Amino acid sequence: MLNSMQEKPNFVFITGGVLSGIGKGVTTASIAKLFQFRGYNIRIIKIDPYLNIDPGTLNPIEHGEVFVTDQTWTFRPVNDSEFNISEIDLDFGTYERFTGMNVHPSQNITSGQIYLSVILEERKGGFLGRTVQIIPHITDRIKQRIWDVVKKDSIPDILLVEIGGTVGDIEAMPFLEAVRQLVRELGRNRTAVVHVTLVPYIKSVGEFKTKPTQHSVRTLQSLGLQPDITICRAEKRLPAAAKEKIALFCNIPKERVISNPDIPVIYQLPLSFEEEGLGNILVEHFGLEPRRPDTDSWSKMVRSFDEASDTITIAMPGKYTTLGDSYKSINQALAHAAAVCSTKVTIKWIETEERSTEECLTSDLSDVDGVLLTPGFGERGVEGMICAATVTLKSKIPLLGICYGAQLSIVAFARNVMGWKGAHTTEVDIDSLYPVVDLMDDQKLTEDKGGTMRLGGHDVHIAEDTKLHRIYGTDKTHERFRHRYHLIDRYLNKMHEKGLKVSAFDSTGKIINAIELTNHPFWIGVQYHPEFKSRPDNPHPLYLGLIRAALEYKKARVKK
Ligand code: GLN
Repeated sequence: MLNSMQEKPNFVFITGGVLSGIGKGVTTASIAKLFQFRGYNIRIIKIDPYLNIDPGTLNPIEHGEVFVTDQTWTFRPVNDSEFNISEIDLDFGTYERFTGMNVHPSQNITSGQIYLSVILEERKGGFLGRTVQIIPHITDRIKQRIWDVVKKDSIPDILLVEIGGTVGDIEAMPFLEAVRQLVRELGRNRTAVVHVTLVPYIKSVGEFKTKPTQHSVRTLQSLGLQPDITICRAEKRLPAAAKEKIALFCNIPKERVISNPDIPVIYQLPLSFEEEGLGNILVEHFGLEPRRPDTDSWSKMVRSFDEASDTITIAMPGKYTTLGDSYKSINQALAHAAAVCSTKVTIKWIETEERSTEECLTSDLSDVDGVLLTPGFGERGVEGMICAATVTLKSKIPLLGICYGAQLSIVAFARNVMGWKGAHTTEVDIDSLYPVVDLMDDQKLTEDKGGTMRLGGHDVHIAEDTKLHRIYGTDKTHERFRHRYHLIDRYLNKMHEKGLKVSAFDSTGKIINAIELTNHPFWIGVQYHPEFKSRPDNPHPLYLGLIRAALEYKKARVKK
């Protein structure tokens, strides 16, 4: 049994103050990177204080994208109840992109999971007549979940635990209490509390204001937690005077007040922390062997984001365009692929609820070099997305359709090329005459909506002699899925004579994974989400394919 007497892991707890949305996830991933630069093994946990079991049902506009893991985790709150989880918080996308490691869904702990497991256990008589309480029952369960992650594989040197939300939030209290207990049990030299705050710059007085940081640190201290390090989000690097002030009020040495300034490329943050000495401070804090950080390949990758000699514009028609984070992994995947092609991508968001006619979309797409048709659910904005796909059929603009984007591209093809009026997905039109996208027969027999969702990583078999095969250069790959509806082969077979090809299947050969057009330079739709596998130092071949096709298209467009 693993316990606090063991030497490993050391714990870094990351809390947030002042505001949410100040980049706690990127900070956590960057701290993990500092350890990786030195050859230490890491693992990351994110705690989300909301009551949902997982973020699968959350609206992307409110919460940003839902990230999908390769592995699926069967969460068993008690013996006879289980939930399959592959949908997790979008910060895990950041963790995977920074660390190059796949995360396991059990690394995302939500209040919903914790409370459900304690309450169901109580119903089963698991607490032997005792009063079930936040302390110790909820806090014990939180600590148990953290130790479960530690023990899951070989024990990491460092475990990072990011606490979602901001200190002072009611929902986060039990988690911060569990952190306090862990710090007490493990000792101050095996734990580091890192507090991430905002230090606003007030232009009219020309000053950085440290008061919000002082207040949030005080709130943290009132919960029994003393920060070991404070990371300050600010427009620029903090001047020495501001650092000294924060150090004094937070009761920490000045060197442990770290700037987190605005940077053009987020992947630069670990290097910026390295310059502030944070890597060495943490290693020293834990009494680990000091090692020279190997930042060479990471620095080279970061530089490639700055060395663009060309720019292209990719349109993203969709319905979650008001919050950049709704399509976070897609935006990152585009940027990764573009950097490799020495190109910068500008994204043109098109809100397709407002722009829903072919005329609108023809005009909107007249100045772009490629279209990424977005994933999504439900009826809103769908007609505009279908029109966007229709325009790409006619004008030969490169198109990459992701999941819903692929399904709606097929609807456009059915209506415009096959002449099947009223073709649709049954997600939107249950009575469609041409249900080219529909549930599979066995799904129709299942009542439980949640149970019919196809999630997580699956093998993809790529047909030979297709564009997809040339792009991947392999017969078989593995991708991540999150869908309920399917492309229906009965209809797709008929589309074959007009140039539509099925380019990938699942292992059974029944589920269509990808389609493409033979008479178009780049018109590809995939049922999966390649963006979840893209890494800054290893872009996904499909995104690379889109960027390259867009560069070609731009050359021709500019000549015209
Ligand atoms: N709504 C579609 C489905 O359920 C597509 C989902 C998606 O784009 N991730 O199949």
